[in-house]
Amino acid sequence: MSCAVVWFKRDLRLTDHLPLVAAIESGAPLLLLYVVEPLLQQDRHYHQRHWHFVAQSIADMNDQLAALKHPDAHLWVVHGDVLEVLQQLHQQVSIDALYAHQEIGLANTYARDRAVQAWCDSQDIHWQQYQTAGVIRGLATRQHWDERWKQVMRSRIVAVPWHQAHWLPSTQVGQHLAAFQPTPQWLLPTTELPYQHGGSRAAWATLADFFAGRGKNYPYHISKPELSRYSCSRMSPHLAWGTISMREFYQHLLRQWHTPGWRRTLVALASRLHWHCHFMQKFESECAMEFRPVNRAYLDFPYRSDSQVSEHLHAWETGQTGFPLVDACMRCVIATGYLNFRMRAMLVSFLCHLLGIDWRAGVHHLARQFLDFEPGIHYPQFQMQAGVTGTNTIRIYNPTKQAQEHDADGVFIKRWCPELAELPTPLLAEPWRMTAMEQTLYNCKIGSDYPAPIIDLPVAAKQARDILWGYRQQPGVKRDGKRIVSRHVRPKKTA
Ligand SMILES: Cc1cc2nc3c(=O)[nH]c(=O)nc-3n(C[C@H](O)[C@H](O)[C@H](O)COP(=O)(O)OP(=O)(O)OC[C@H]3O[C@@H](n4cnc5c(N)ncnc54)[C@H](O)[C@@H]3O)c2cc1C
Repeated sequence: MSCAVVWFKRDLRLTDHLPLVAAIESGAPLLLLYVVEPLLQQDRHYHQRHWHFVAQSIADMNDQLAALKHPDAHLWVVHGDVLEVLQQLHQQVSIDALYAHQEIGLANTYARDRAVQAWCDSQDIHWQQYQTAGVIRGLATRQHWDERWKQVMRSRIVAVPWHQAHWLPSTQVGQHLAAFQPTPQWLLPTTELPYQHGGSRAAWATLADFFAGRGKNYPYHISKPELSRYSCSRMSPHLAWGTISMREFYQHLLRQWHTPGWRRTLVALASRLHWHCHFMQKFESECAMEFRPVNRAYLDFPYRSDSQVSEHLHAWETGQTGFPLVDACMRCVIATGYLNFRMRAMLVSFLCHLLGIDWRAGVHHLARQFLDFEPGIHYPQFQMQAGVTGTNTIRIYNPTKQAQEHDADGVFIKRWCPELAELPTPLLAEPWRMTAMEQTLYNCKIGSDYPAPIIDLPVAAKQARDILWGYRQQPGVKRDGKRIVSRHVRPKKTA
C-alpha cells in the first residue's frame, strides 16, 4: 500500500490548506503527520510555551478529525528527525507523494528541508510545496509584489473535500510509527498556562470577540502596554503557528468593511496583515539576516565590549534595569508571551541603543518569550529597531517618556513591578528621584527593593545619538542601504 503524506509544520489547521486538498484529490491513501523535532526543541529560539501552543493546536485538529467519524481520520504525532521518520514510513508503507507548505524558517529548518528534498528526489517521491500566505520563494524584485499579495488574499478559499478522502488504515501506520509520548510538562492543563491557547477554534474565537467589540478602540490603544492587550487583535500566535490562514483572517476582515464606526480599525489592521507578509518576504529574500546585520556595514559597529556587558544584559533579560517600563515589559512578556509592538521596539532600543549591546545578544531571548515567534518578522523587526538597516529612521525610545505617555496611570508598571505599588503615579516612571523619606514612606528602597538605574539615561541617550547618527554617514552604510532598498522595496512607479 502506498500513501500521500501531508506534513504539517507551522500550518496547524484543517481549512484553507492547499497541501491537504491536493493530497486528498490525488486519491492515494491519506496520512497526516506532525513531527516533534529535537532539532527545534533544542533550538535557542524556542521555549516550552511554543510546544504547549503546538500541542493544543494538534489536539484541536484531532478533535475536528474525530468529528468526521472515520476510524482512521487522525493526525499522527511522531517524535524524531524528520528525514528518519519519513525513511521509516517509506520502508513500511511506501510514500507516493509528500505535501506541505513552504516554511519561511530559520537556517536549520531550511537545511532540513533541503535534505528532505534530496531524499525525495532519490526515492522518486514527489514533494509538492505550496506558498505560505503572500510570501514568494525565490523572488528577485518587489515589482508587483503588492498586487500579488492582494490577489492571493482575495482568492477563493478551497474547501477540503473530506468526503473524497481515503484514509491509510491506522493499523498499518501504528505498527511502524512510534507515537510521540509527551512528558508531563507537555500535558499541563490549559487552564494552568498563562499564555494564549492554541488551536483553530481559539483563533476564530479570538477574532470573533475582536470584531464583537474589543477592536473598536484598536487604533487608539495599540501603543498602550496595558490596553493593547485587550484592544489589539492578539492573532499573532495563531498566524505564526498557522491555526488560521492569513487569507482567512483578511477575508474575515473584509466582511466587516461596511460596519459603521469600524473603518479606522479595519484600515490599520489590514495594513498590518500586509506588513506581516512584507517582513517575511524580506527574510525569505535575505535569510542571512539570522546571523548578520542586513546592512553589512554594521558588521563593524562599535558595540560595547567592557566587563559590565554581561551584567547589563542579564539585568535587561530579567527585568532588573531600574527603568520601570522596561522592567515591566520584560517581566510581562516572560510571564505571558505577549507584548505590543511599541513596547517590543522599546526593549530592543534599550538594549542596543541605551545599553550599547549587540542585537545578536538579545534576539534569541525575546524569540523565546514571544509566543508568536515568527522568524520572518522577528529578525527584520529586531534589526530595524536596533538601527542596523541603514535605511529606516533610527528611534531611540526614552523609557521615562514612554511610561508617562503610554502608561500614564501606572497600571501596567504596578502590575509587573509590585515593588513600586505604593508610589504615587508621578514618581512611577522615575523612582530613582525619590528622596530617602519618600522611599521609606512608599516602602521601596532604591538599590535594595528595586534596582537603581543601570545607566545614566541622558548620558547614554546622547552617546547613542552621536554614535548611531555618526555611523550612519559612512559611505559603506549608504552603499548597502541602496542595495537593501532595491532588493526589498517596491520600485517607484514611473509616470
Ligand atoms: C523586535 C520585534 C520583534 C517582533 N517579533 C515578532 C514575531 O516574532 N512575530 C510576530 O507575529 N510579530 C512580531 N513583531 C511585530 C508585532 O509586534 C506583533 O506582530 C504584534 O505586536 C502582535 O500583536 P497582535 O496580534 O495583537 O497585532 P495586531 O496589531 O492586532 O496586528 C494583527 C497582525 O498583523 C501583524 N503585525 C502587526 N504589527 C506588525 C508589525 N509591526 N510587523 C509585522 N507584522 C505585524 C501580526 O501578524 C499581527 O498578529 C515584532 C516586533 C518587534 C518590534
